[in-house]
Amino acid sequence: MPADLVLKNANVITMDHTRPTAGLVAIKGSRILLVAGSEALGEVRGTKTKVIDCQGKTVVPGFNDAHCHIFSFLRRLRSLDLSPSSVKSIAEIKAAIRRRAQSLPLGSWLAGSDYNEFYLAEKRHPNRRDLDEAAPHHPVVLTHRSLHACVLNSLALSLAGISRETPEPAGALIERDETGEPSGLLFEMVGYIRERVLPPLSEGELAEAVASANEHYLSMGITSVQDASATNDFTRWQVIKGFIESGALKSRVFMMFGISALSQFQQMGLAFGSGDSYLRLGGVKLMLSETTAQPPPLELDQQAFIAHQAGFQLAIHCIEPSTVEAAIAILEYISRQLPIAGQRHRLEHCSECPPHLLKRLIRLKAMVVTQPPFLYYSGERYLATIPPTQLRWLYRIKSLLDGGLVVAASSDCPVVPDNPLLGIYAAVTRRAQSGQELSPEERVSAKQALAMYTINAAYASFEEDIKGSITPGKLADMVVLGDDPLKSPPEQLKDIRVEMAIIDGRVVWEA
Ligand SMILES: [Zn+2]
Repeated sequence: MPADLVLKNANVITMDHTRPTAGLVAIKGSRILLVAGSEALGEVRGTKTKVIDCQGKTVVPGFNDAHCHIFSFLRRLRSLDLSPSSVKSIAEIKAAIRRRAQSLPLGSWLAGSDYNEFYLAEKRHPNRRDLDEAAPHHPVVLTHRSLHACVLNSLALSLAGISRETPEPAGALIERDETGEPSGLLFEMVGYIRERVLPPLSEGELAEAVASANEHYLSMGITSVQDASATNDFTRWQVIKGFIESGALKSRVFMMFGISALSQFQQMGLAFGSGDSYLRLGGVKLMLSETTAQPPPLELDQQAFIAHQAGFQLAIHCIEPSTVEAAIAILEYISRQLPIAGQRHRLEHCSECPPHLLKRLIRLKAMVVTQPPFLYYSGERYLATIPPTQLRWLYRIKSLLDGGLVVAASSDCPVVPDNPLLGIYAAVTRRAQSGQELSPEERVSAKQALAMYTINAAYASFEEDIKGSITPGKLADMVVLGDDPLKSPPEQLKDIRVEMAIIDGRVVWEA
């Protein structure tokens, strides 16, 4: 059978242990037809076969970012970049807001993203007064890098209906000055502000943002994403479906959602894994937070139990040891009543995992979806703020793998940039952007890191039968790299460039 497309003269890293390397990949339609040595070209070459000579370059399975937030990313692409690489102080934030305000009609919303008080000269969050000085006539909202905090100016606060009389919303915190007046800083209210206060992006704005997001994903070699937003619901599902059907979004999407949308999906006849290889329904995202009073454990146990019983994977957000323990307790609660083996429940982040919790996690055979890029982008802050005894348990990877757990990698984008090769670099070197090392005993090999972004990520969405490795019969999602990550010196991993992305057997991006 002649192939439609052949990659020849390639250094293929298949991530399939039955055939780890190859020189040629043949594709028929959307699937991989043959993985072989270069000498097999004659077998698969027909008159209409397109042949790409890779000139010895490396081909790997398409990258799969196992935890990110598409809609936040779209907002992010429309807003001011206030990340540490762009602004160093509140004074600079104010200047950036002033500049943007000049080109915006009075009264329209001005958004900024990714400020991080740790990296600001003033070492504090901006407040409403700062923002009022910069833009008194535009409602302004700045979101913290973590998405767990935001700051509003006075106009935005009044449009949001937040005043000294506003009681504390459940699970959130309105910071106030001595007189009880809101300072502008809000904790755990980013979702509320975005969903209920900010006007939705117009169709034109959305189309523009999706086009940039698509281009961005492909340029990073990200052929699959897993959206872990607890705010996802059936409406979001339809919006993403629209992006995909119109061809605006080429990367595949596995969409998790919040527990409140469970009955909605069930009423629409959708179960876990429903959809197709382009858009698939994922599990239920549960948020555990230490910043605010958690939902009462009993309620969480019940929510998790209902989702589990309905056949859904759980994706439990947990950062601090107390929340990691709470996540484990939820899974243990379920396992006392029903078998949980095979449901691949996931701990999202699992940022601090001390030995006694690791033991319980291993017993549960839960998965961990980790974020190596955090080590790079936030490592300096971790080293400055987390006691050394606790640092040892921070974003552990090797210990989890040694314990037999499956670990998938992700960026939590837009929390940090999502370049998978930078994530691989961080997992291999455990170095922060500053060059400092974080618990080097948790380093993994480049092969293990690559697995976390490919086959393990596919396992996290129950799709290892159709993606995650270059194996005949699987979807032809592949990336051509400028260098071989398994042979590059660790320091150079983050600089490896994606040269081509292939999805569904089609070249969708070229450098
Ligand atoms: Zn997240």
